[in-house]
Order: sequence, then structure tokens, then C-alpha cells
Amino acid sequence: VDTVPTESTRPFFGHVIGNQEIGSIDGATFESVDPWGREPWADVALGTAADADAAVTAARTAFDEGPWPRMGFHERARLIHRLADLIEEHTDELAMADTRDMGKPITQARHDVARSAQNFRFFADHARLSVAETLPMDTGHHTYTRYEAAGVVVAIAPWNFPLMLETWKVAPALAWGNTVVLKPAEDTPTSATILARLAIEAGFPEGVFNVVHGYGPDSVGSALTEDTRVDRITFTGESGTGKVIGKVAAGNLTPVSLELGGKGANIVFADADLDNAVHWSVQAIFRNAGQVCLAGSRLFVAREIYDEFMERFVAAAQALVPADPKTEESAFGPLASQEHYDKVRGYLDSVEDEGGTIATGGAGEGLVIRPTIVTGLPLDAPHVTQEIFGPLVVVHPFDTEAEAVHLANDTPYGLNAMVFTENLHRAHRVSAQLDAGTVWVNCFFIRDLRAPFGGFGDSGVGREGGLFSRDFFTEPKAVVMQI
Ligand code: NAD
Repeated sequence: VDTVPTESTRPFFGHVIGNQEIGSIDGATFESVDPWGREPWADVALGTAADADAAVTAARTAFDEGPWPRMGFHERARLIHRLADLIEEHTDELAMADTRDMGKPITQARHDVARSAQNFRFFADHARLSVAETLPMDTGHHTYTRYEAAGVVVAIAPWNFPLMLETWKVAPALAWGNTVVLKPAEDTPTSATILARLAIEAGFPEGVFNVVHGYGPDSVGSALTEDTRVDRITFTGESGTGKVIGKVAAGNLTPVSLELGGKGANIVFADADLDNAVHWSVQAIFRNAGQVCLAGSRLFVAREIYDEFMERFVAAAQALVPADPKTEESAFGPLASQEHYDKVRGYLDSVEDEGGTIATGGAGEGLVIRPTIVTGLPLDAPHVTQEIFGPLVVVHPFDTEAEAVHLANDTPYGLNAMVFTENLHRAHRVSAQLDAGTVWVNCFFIRDLRAPFGGFGDSGVGREGGLFSRDFFTEPKAVVMQI
């Protein structure tokens, strides 16, 4: 590290470019703040367009001249599995980095680290064991498909599942032979630097995996998306940011994958197993303090069971007591930053003005918003139509299946939905009618990494996961043979 802030005793997290951990070219740094105590805990290199340029140069050179795209699936998979081993060995360090950066309970952060290792293992094996099409033709020719690495991939990530969502992008990109520049969110920079240190330790060649820190607009983020040497942009974040990045990418004809915001509908039918429905409804809106793109933030409950469901749901929400996320017993922490707290607090404070009632919840200490359940809001209230991204759920009763489907689909978003019913026919019938990239029936958050992941409407463009990731991170090529 060549530019360490000398006056600080906090740990320093640099960019990692060409297998060197370095400070910014202009020496600038920023602080990462632990939202529980609201204390800065780390110093981080603050990049500019010049640092982004250096990272793309390293990735471009590694792709054009280095061994990574040429070494074959088996050897790449060996290195990627070695990285997964190191991630598992450093679980506590990585989990604590995310917890300190954004206030996620440490037990949930450890779960995310395990999933991150699994992302690498899954995509390494998936690419290595992949098959491609062979098409015998009537003319006597045959055509076969090759999936060539696309080149330099830029991955831009949000702060809510830092390491887990970064690895969801980086793992398939690397497994298919690309080189990568990752820009983590400015609120959660540190686990990405640790990941890059581990990639060096695992033996990754120079320039294959680079991390550059900084902000989005007029900073590292925009510089990376504007760079014409980049072959793919994969972005997860807000729908508004996705539109900006999509426009820039279109200007360069750079293919882009956008995983964006959500306003998930959670439908509980009268025939649901209520214990199960309450359990998952709590997880769906209060896990990670509701800072989940897949949150079940609009809850629709059949009128026949509404009172009984609400009694149990409110009791379960009240049982979640906010605690320091760095402690083992914490299941509910603060919001990730002051800026985000102010946004969620604005929604909380306007519930009653909009005609709603707070059944439980409200503001807590510091940056905590307690698990909050709101009833009685008109369907056009901002709380019902906009992504709040916090622990606040709006609940409405419904009378018929058709009404429930209509309410669920009445949103510009379409990332996910949940259906609770013991009726098999209804489960399939309703799942087919929901405009959502993922439908969970009687569960939530369970993922098969082979399945498509993405959203309808404002929730995104494209899908990642399994073969969908292959199709995005490669250039498929048809070879036609005369025989
Ligand atoms: P955000 O859009 O503010 O920022 C995401 C990333 O984009 C950050 O790294 C940021 O620095 C960068 N960025 C911002 N403006 C940019 C620009 N003009 N050019 C390039 N980069 C830019 O999102 P956030 O607040 O970090 O994350 C929360 C959002 O992410 C929510 O809307 C949530 O629903 C969504 N999300 C979606 C998924 C999914 O899989 N669909 C998963 C998690 C989060």
C-alpha cells in the first residue's frame, strides 16, 4: 500500500489493481462508518476517473495478453475453488467487514460469506462441466456453438448484500474466462478489498480481478461505465441508477445486465399454514432491516384470516429487538447509513398524514427503525407504490384470488412475489399470473443458482444465474462445418 493516511490508526483498504493494493493516484481517502455506533472504523482509497482508467487498463492487458482466458476451464476452476477455500477460512474477517460497513447482524453476514464461497464454487463447476449445442443440418453441414469469453467485465454493486452480490457477478464472469473490475458501493467497500487480497493469495494472475473504490456519478462508477474498452457491464442497484447506466452503455453498444429495485408482493391466502406464513413474512421484510431488493414489502392477507394473522405477525415483529449487529444475539440492526436512515424515516413520519396506522414499530435509538407494520394506507400512497428499502411493511386485506393477483401486479416493479397457500392448484395458478422474476410458494429467499434471477418491468433488464450468466458473460459463436 503506497498511500496510507498517516494520522489515522484505523485499518486501511486500498484499491487492488494488477495484484497490487494501492492508494488513489491523488492520495484521497474516505471513511467507512459503522452505523451502529456511528463511528468511522476504516479508511478507504477514494478513486477518481484516473484510478478507474488504471483498473480497466490492468484488466484489458490481462485479458488480451495474460494467461487467464487461455488457461482452460479446469485450471481456472482450480484457482477459483482455492479462492472459495480462502473465503471460508476468512469467514469471520469478511463477515465483520460487511457488518461494520452497513450494520447487518453478524450471523446473517456469515451466511452471506458462505453463499459467496458457494457462488465461486458453483460457477467454476458450472462453466467447467458445461456443454454446447451441435446441430446436424439437412444440407449435410453441421453447426456447433462456442461460448467465448466476452473480455473486460465491469461489476457495480450495492451495499445491502455487499460480498454476496459482488461474488454473484464476479464468479461467473471469471469462470467464463473474463477479467473483472469491481466497484463496490461506497458504503460497503472493505470486504471487496479483502476478497481481492485473497484472490492474490489464491494465485490469480495479475490484472484478472481488480477492485476500485469511489462514488457513482462523476466518479469511478461513471468512468467505468463510459470506458469503451469495457465489454460487459453488470449492475445491481436502484432502478433510477440502472436507467442512467443503461443510457451510457447504449452509447457504446456495451451489453448491460441490470438487477434493480423491487416492491415484492406477499400474498397470504385463507388456506395458508399460518405459522409458516408468519415466519416467512417476518423474514421477508425484517431480515437485513428490510434492506433487501426481494423484500415482501406489500403484504396482502385474506380477509377471513386477517385478524388472526395480524395478531401473530405483530407479536413476531415485536419479538425482534434491535441490538448491536456485531454481537451473536443480534437479529435486527440499524439502517446502513445516516443518508438511508433519513430516507426511511421520511416514509415513517408521513404514515399518518397519508391516512395509515402504525400497528407496531417506529423510530428506535440511533439509526434504528424498529420493525414497523402499517395498515390502512390508500393504495396510491408513496409507501405502497415506492421502494422504501427499510423495515416497513404495508398490509391490506383482500377478498378474492383475482383481487390478490391484481393488487400484487399493480406496481412498476416485478422482481419477486410470495404466495402462501396449502392448495396446490392455486399455488400453480397464481404463480403463473404474477408478473415477477421469482415466485416463492410457502417460502422465501431460497435460491437455486441455476435458475434465472432478475425482474420484470422496472426491476431490471436481463437475467443472471446458471446458463443465463453464461449467455451474458460470453460471446456465443456459431461454427458451421462442411463435412
Ligand atoms: P445505487 O443505485 O444508489 O448504487 C449502486 C451502485 O451504483 C453503487 O456502487 C454506486 O456507487 C453506483 N452508482 C451510482 N450512480 C452511478 C452512476 N451514475 N454510474 C455508475 N455507478 C453508479 O443503489 P444502492 O442504494 O447501493 O442499493 C440499493 C438498491 O439496489 C435498491 O433499489 C435495491 O432494490 C437494489 N438491489 C437490487 C438487487 C437485485 O438483485 N435486483 C439486489 C440488491 C439491491
